[in-house]
Amino acid sequence: MRQYSTQMEAARKGIVTEELKAVAQKERMTVEELLPLVASGKVVICANKNHKCLDPQGIGSMLKTKINVNLGVSRDCKDYDLEMQKVHEAVKLGAHAIMDLSSHGNTIPFRKRLIAECPLMIGTVPVYDAVIHYQRDLHTLTAKDFIDVVRLHAEDGVDFVTLHCGITRQTIEQIKKHKRKLNIVSRGGSLVFAWMCMTGEENPFYEHFDEILDICREYDVTISLGDACRPGCLADASDVCQIEELVRLGELTKRAWKKDVQVMIEGPGHMPIDQIEANMKIQQTICSGAPFYVLGPLVTDIAPGYDHITAAIGGAIAASAGAAFLCYVTPAEHLALPNLDDVRQGIIAMRIAAHAADIAKGVKGAREADDRMAEARRMLDWETQWKYAIDPETAKRIRDERKPEHEDTCSMCGKFCAVRSMNKALAGELVDVL
Ligand code: SF4
Repeated sequence: MRQYSTQMEAARKGIVTEELKAVAQKERMTVEELLPLVASGKVVICANKNHKCLDPQGIGSMLKTKINVNLGVSRDCKDYDLEMQKVHEAVKLGAHAIMDLSSHGNTIPFRKRLIAECPLMIGTVPVYDAVIHYQRDLHTLTAKDFIDVVRLHAEDGVDFVTLHCGITRQTIEQIKKHKRKLNIVSRGGSLVFAWMCMTGEENPFYEHFDEILDICREYDVTISLGDACRPGCLADASDVCQIEELVRLGELTKRAWKKDVQVMIEGPGHMPIDQIEANMKIQQTICSGAPFYVLGPLVTDIAPGYDHITAAIGGAIAASAGAAFLCYVTPAEHLALPNLDDVRQGIIAMRIAAHAADIAKGVKGAREADDRMAEARRMLDWETQWKYAIDPETAKRIRDERKPEHEDTCSMCGKFCAVRSMNKALAGELVDVL
């Protein structure tokens, strides 16, 4: 019988859970080092007690940066088998979390299958699901309907839920007054905003936050406090709407912690490079060090088709400045539901960003693979290079497609290979170039 409800409560009571032990081992920390971080909310271990096959992970700025993969069906693309293929690809490519953002049909079987089969952390956005779950128009839903869907996801075993608790009726005035270029681009945020406008009521996720906390506490669901006002273009970055919401998220964080509920804070969005570091620091101050989960940030607005790159640039900078969790972005961002190849490219791009940040942050062991790779390159040892490559399949395919005349080089320079020349010169051998 568990003597605790949440990982945070366990840590506060000094109980070392199996999940905490597993995370400490992965992060090369002692349980004594990790325990106070979980107790204080600086690290979350998203582990719903009903997600039985979970391979636990910790999320916190001092740990390895984690990455999330969004997937799920939409009205136009509703092939659940394809979504399952994306799940397998995400596991294979080293992602840490999957968010099921399905917005069409009966979402329950896919969610249950994910939780039964997938060892990654599973996240959802209950407000999307509310509309399709009840098959009723948004304005007819009640606060109770929304909260019941949160409970349903918690019972199913979802490890973290994005809840847009930080926008209120005051935000309606802010958005009107400040005339953003792109208003609200958060899908869940726009639904909550529209619901408030149509019903004249307060945001149910804000108004009934205590009831939501009780549900999350019971199942140990981590709340990912959604950033409805995250900037959707560079012009809206770091504006009053974004910062005002962040302040409210900071207040809600403290309320959640009082009930031992684990919390992450979601963040931007689109943002010029020179604003990213300041945003990470502001979040850490306002939200008392709760892990920051950023969606990109995308550092330019003009690269549709390549937003996995704009997001990876922003993600690397954000994570090196304190973000703990990066949501991948695919080349299909702003354009279409991603296909399998888009998912693949998005994951690889964000894994590179996360790894680059971990090296910069000095995360334990982060540099080891790079050093092994450098040694393998000096030895022109291609098999070892594949072993340490983030995407060995692509690396090997490129080399195999363009084979060199001499196996110990590559077709980029052939016998002009600098590595080969230096190895031979330093060994006192003849350097034969022609
Ligand atoms: S041939 Fe050129 S690119 Fe290829 S391994 Fe040698 S130095 Fe590097």
